[in-house]
Amino acid sequence: VFNFCAGPAALPTAVLERAGLELADWHGKGLSIMEMSHRSADFVAVAEKAEQDLRDLMAIPDNYKVLFMQGGASSQFAMIPLNLANGSGKVDQIVTGQWSKKALAEGRRFADVRVIANTEDNHFTSAPTQSELALNADADYVHYCPNETIGGVAFDYIPATGDVPLVADLSSAILSDTLDVSRFGMIYAGAQKNIGPAGLCVVIIRDDLLGKAQAATPTMFDYKVCADHGSMYNTPPTYSWYLAGLVFEWLKEQGGVAAIAAANHRKASHLYQFIDGHDFYANPVAINNRSIMNVPFTLADSRLDKLFLQQSEAAGLLNLAGHRSVGGMRASIYNAVSEVAVVALTDFMTDFARRHG
Ligand code: PLP
Repeated sequence: VFNFCAGPAALPTAVLERAGLELADWHGKGLSIMEMSHRSADFVAVAEKAEQDLRDLMAIPDNYKVLFMQGGASSQFAMIPLNLANGSGKVDQIVTGQWSKKALAEGRRFADVRVIANTEDNHFTSAPTQSELALNADADYVHYCPNETIGGVAFDYIPATGDVPLVADLSSAILSDTLDVSRFGMIYAGAQKNIGPAGLCVVIIRDDLLGKAQAATPTMFDYKVCADHGSMYNTPPTYSWYLAGLVFEWLKEQGGVAAIAAANHRKASHLYQFIDGHDFYANPVAINNRSIMNVPFTLADSRLDKLFLQQSEAAGLLNLAGHRSVGGMRASIYNAVSEVAVVALTDFMTDFARRHG
């Protein structure tokens, strides 16, 4: 079967197989990695290698910390203002879909938020251009979501914010394409798309942003505490961290981010070209803002949606339903989804349109 789920998403088969082999007996130790102390030399080596592999893959500069946190990406919606709204207390947020909207609601609880661009009027089918961003020089940071998972809307540029740190929710796009990390103050990503199991959240943060959390910040939410303890202030999500490490190793074996990015662009253009070439299918997103990870599409007659989902599932193409808030279809084509899977999908779509169009 091929899994097009938006999250938790498909993991590379090779990673699952290796994790399966190692599950009860890690490297002949007679223990599962899940049963080992996070302070043991064996686990610390696994954890450090995972971090180094991520640093290599993303070319993360030395003046950035990599944190392995818990509570998914959603907890970051609160941690970000608690840690970073520490100067003027004013922050700028860009709203391009459901996730940046959730980040906005949470941001408003802890900071004085100005919405500097919002595409809700066009039903979140585009991203604002640089000149449409009403940036404020006194902002403590600018928050945005480069890839909106539900609407399939992606920025085709990194906003230039001058001296104001840029914070990006990269949950559904991390490791999918090459990226200049030095353009960001902070990047965070829930793991369950391109990294590993849900619950884990990877945070990449520039050194100088640490240590200025609001006084009421819970200890567990303070990035500096997390960084000072090597992400082990408490018991970290050891199994998720280990699995993330296996995914990073797999990604290196694939040739790294540049190679996977090339495959991702091929997958996405194949699918978009197919959709654009068939009147039976449509994608509403502005061409230059189309996500290479999440491809929503509708059928010419929405009464056929249920049948499409039943038949695609029977054909081994799983989890193609759009998000419950928008309906329609969505194919999430993260790193672990092969080009073969995308061709199988368009083959099915051709056949379905022929039978029902
Ligand atoms: N941000 C984006 C872009 C997402 O796609 C998601 C979840 O899918 C989240 C945030 C929330 O992540 P979590 O469920 O880990 O809190």
